[in-house]
Amino acid sequence: MTESFHPPRRTLMGPGPSDVNPRILEAMSRPTIGHLDPAFIGMMEEMKDLLRYAFQCDYDLAMPVSAPGSAGMETCFVNLVEPGDKVVVCQNGVFGGRMKENVERAGGTPVMVEDPWGQPVDPNKVEDALKANPDARILAFVHAETSTGAQSDARTLAEIARRHDCLTIVDTVTSLGGSELRVSEWGLDAVYSGSQKCLSCTPGLSPVTFSERALERVRNRSHKVQSWFLDLNLVLGYWGGDGKRAYHHTAPINALYGLHEALVILEEEGIENAWVRHERNHEALRAGFEAMGLSFVVPEGARLPQLNAVSIPDGVDDALVRSRLLEEYNLEIGAGLGALAGKVWRIGLMGHASNRTNVLFCLGALDAVLTDMGAPIESGVAVAAARDAYID
Ligand code: PLP
Repeated sequence: MTESFHPPRRTLMGPGPSDVNPRILEAMSRPTIGHLDPAFIGMMEEMKDLLRYAFQCDYDLAMPVSAPGSAGMETCFVNLVEPGDKVVVCQNGVFGGRMKENVERAGGTPVMVEDPWGQPVDPNKVEDALKANPDARILAFVHAETSTGAQSDARTLAEIARRHDCLTIVDTVTSLGGSELRVSEWGLDAVYSGSQKCLSCTPGLSPVTFSERALERVRNRSHKVQSWFLDLNLVLGYWGGDGKRAYHHTAPINALYGLHEALVILEEEGIENAWVRHERNHEALRAGFEAMGLSFVVPEGARLPQLNAVSIPDGVDDALVRSRLLEEYNLEIGAGLGALAGKVWRIGLMGHASNRTNVLFCLGALDAVLTDMGAPIESGVAVAAARDAYID
């Protein structure tokens, strides 16, 4: 007889999913009710307000797409890009490349603005691309590039887009709840995120928000959105307004209890306090890595506090280190992706997992494994350096 599945207990310090707050798991185990039950609809209304708080926006449309971050990305592209539309896409890592794919699959023409992996998007290049393509209708970029740990200046990029009469599509999968994001104040138009990073919820939901001018464009499309499931004109029959709700798909009821709880936790902490906490833990981790002799891929000033990409010391077996951390310490850290595969480790300090205990635990475990393997690092100093950083 096959037995029930009992996963091992890990500490998740990779690029996501991050450790789920036990309050969220408890919320998800509450009784399932109908997706049109008045009590559930009341919870959906609260969820919209909580998402507006998390995104720092006052847009009418703020809702979770019933699928992971990639579906939030597709929601933005399939609803806003029409066949023949020109879209300026910034790429400085893996996820800008996925945006390009999305534009092409929606029948649009991507104009790429490339920056080296590890660097933020260069606003001057974006300005030049928009000047050279006055018919571009959208600027798309990743706020927090999880593949490298680089943070781009969303406020400046959105300001440039507005001057060129473009809407913005912004990936905030890794930034939401972890670093400063002010959707309304910065004038971002179509913004998507994920439940499993700094919200510390289970994976599988994608919060999105659309400005009124983005929604106008969706309403006035000349072609039908080619995806039935993601067509906002239909989805909003269920999530939109505060009046009558029509069946669109069966919402993932218990997963939504979890996201609601995650957002309640964020509201309790205060979003600005959450940003400061992420920064503080990043500073301590950084002090430890630097004491050990590991260097950051991203230049100072553009580093994401929730995703720390550090170079693997010469001659060290990347996969062996990660598997020893998993086996000996139940600790998951991330491998490099794409162009950085085999060159970096990605250490996440996301949401619930961004805490002092994890910082000290990760540094201690990595120090022990690398020292045991004879790696060229400064041994035995990382934890003390991080501890000192908390005192400063
Ligand atoms: N965008 C970014 C920046 C991401 O980091 C991820 C996932 O890691 C995604 C999009 C896709 O999200 P998901 O894996 O939830 O589909």
